[in-house]
Amino acid sequence: MKKLANTLFGDFLSLIFPEFCVCCNESLLKGEAQICTQCRYDLPITDYHLHRQNILSQRFWGKLPIEYAFAYLKFTKGGKVQKILHDLKYNGNQEIGVMLGKWYGQLLVDAGLAKLDADEAAKEEVFQVILPIPLHKAKRRKRGFNQSDCFAEGLSATTAIPWHSTALVRNKATKTQTKKGRMERWQNVENIFEVVAPEIVKGKHVLLVDDVVTTGSTLEACAQSILQAGAVKISIATLAVAI
Ligand SMILES: [Zn+2]
Repeated sequence: MKKLANTLFGDFLSLIFPEFCVCCNESLLKGEAQICTQCRYDLPITDYHLHRQNILSQRFWGKLPIEYAFAYLKFTKGGKVQKILHDLKYNGNQEIGVMLGKWYGQLLVDAGLAKLDADEAAKEEVFQVILPIPLHKAKRRKRGFNQSDCFAEGLSATTAIPWHSTALVRNKATKTQTKKGRMERWQNVENIFEVVAPEIVKGKHVLLVDDVVTTGSTLEACAQSILQAGAVKISIATLAVAI
């Protein structure tokens, strides 16, 4: 009876406050959440998880010894992925970040890149801990959350790989990177990340997670700090890639 009452109440609420698809703004149907079925079907998913050498992993050649570089979705200006990222970051829709993390985690499991059995994972060449790129504390306070935490939480939910939000710290806020040259960008991000809980990364294959990757210089700087702190391997997974 309680369940029925909850369902009726939910139906009642959706009549007064209908929910809309983040991507196309159409009303969501019963059973849909955040993204409608058609938009989910049309999401521009990359195949990077199926190819160890891909255009994202190439961005790190000669800079960082990474094992895998994955990105779930292709970012295009004005496209569905831009709407998703905007809703996540600026409308505080943390739920969509977690949901997409779950969907991507399932793809990684299906591709054999994450084992649901923890003992098996320790033996295989798969990730042992997920770390989201941290925001500087002033920025985090302003936004109220770290969007990369949401994606990491979702990935962890379907892969059963633990995630930590406090092992890494970002020591200074970086200014916009777009107008700087490569050397300046590198100097801008060098040494800004610190591993404050090295026992979490020591001897492990770390999956470093971010919302969107453009040049890769932030991920590169963060990954270097993690390797220096004693991680044996590093891989990268982002919610979106700008190509
Ligand atoms: Zn839609």
